[in-house]
Amino acid sequence: METNRHYDTIVVGAGPAGLTAGIYLSRARIKTLILNEGITGGQMILTHEIANYPGVESISGYQLASIMKKQATTFGCEIRSNVSIRNMQLNNELKTISLSDGNQYTADSIILTPGGRSRTLGVPGEDHFKGRGISYCATCDGDFFTDKEIVVVGGGNSAIEEAVSLTKYAKVTIVHQFDHFQAFEHAVEEARSNPKIKFIMESVITGFHGNENIQSIDIKNLRSGRTKPFKTDGVFIFIGYLPNTEFLKDKIELNKRGEIVVKPDMSTNIKGVYAAGDSIAKSFRQITTAVGDGTIAALAVSNYLNEVKSKQKHLISA
Ligand SMILES: Cc1cc2nc3c(=O)[nH]c(=O)nc-3n(C[C@H](O)[C@H](O)[C@H](O)COP(=O)(O)OP(=O)(O)OC[C@H]3O[C@@H](n4cnc5c(N)ncnc54)[C@H](O)[C@@H]3O)c2cc1C
Repeated sequence: METNRHYDTIVVGAGPAGLTAGIYLSRARIKTLILNEGITGGQMILTHEIANYPGVESISGYQLASIMKKQATTFGCEIRSNVSIRNMQLNNELKTISLSDGNQYTADSIILTPGGRSRTLGVPGEDHFKGRGISYCATCDGDFFTDKEIVVVGGGNSAIEEAVSLTKYAKVTIVHQFDHFQAFEHAVEEARSNPKIKFIMESVITGFHGNENIQSIDIKNLRSGRTKPFKTDGVFIFIGYLPNTEFLKDKIELNKRGEIVVKPDMSTNIKGVYAAGDSIAKSFRQITTAVGDGTIAALAVSNYLNEVKSKQKHLISA
């Protein structure tokens, strides 16, 4: 067991924000460890195709994540994936992170990049049919619905883009609660011109039914108030996200949505602790914005560490 190892910076989370911070810090010869709960890459690995990352016309999320990981480790960044954080001590100058496997790490600075996860509908039957017809990941499960009829719930960019991608396999009906979409206009136009996509607007799902697998849903029209059964083989839910910040409750300032409150340099209310990516309070959540936040956090940490070191030198020479 490797206990009590010390780093200049520990980054929590290995999505695009954390990996970018890892690239910048390690390249600046700052001893960096990334601790990640899941597989390296974060939400990127759920995306079948990324076509809006500048300089790369089209790439799978898995590939982009692999490249970012390689870049970080080539510069000397250490990454530990599939770990579970048991405790964090952030308030002292020397920060401590303890893992469930017994390892403990200390650092002079921390960057929090835990990202977010899909929001669920909270409708009866949803938990029962998760993985039995209900999915939150087109890339992971789309293929299972080849030649079937499926429903996509949501009206933002993820919902519309994933609905289009799912037409590779299945006929899609988009169910959305409003009479208009929040997605970018070009994405909506692409969906509207796709003959394999139908739309049910101003409606919500109120129930899931089936035996082993899902067979039908109840759809309530919000205008008329009437609920009708609708036959379907699967339901993909893309209705937004929740920040993965439960483990930070009472440790750092969060807003009422659970997002980490940061200043423009990505510093938090605790000295030496920074945050970046989808978990911070902001309007737009994309790989590019996560990468931008990760860059700013890494550069700010670099300045912070210079201050800490010059303070230490001053104390020694005094
Ligand atoms: C289906 C889908 C399609 C998308 N398509 C696109 C697209 O085409 N283009 C685009 O720009 N964006 C897209 N996005 C959004 C993009 O993936 C996110 O904005 C981006 O990944 C956020 O990066 P992040 O580093 O902040 O967080 P994440 O990618 O969420 O990574 C956070 C990481 O932190 C880890 N973590 C969480 N909690 C802890 C903890 N307590 N301890 C340790 N580790 C922890 C997680 O396991 C994860 O690996 C898509 C998202 C989804 C879900």
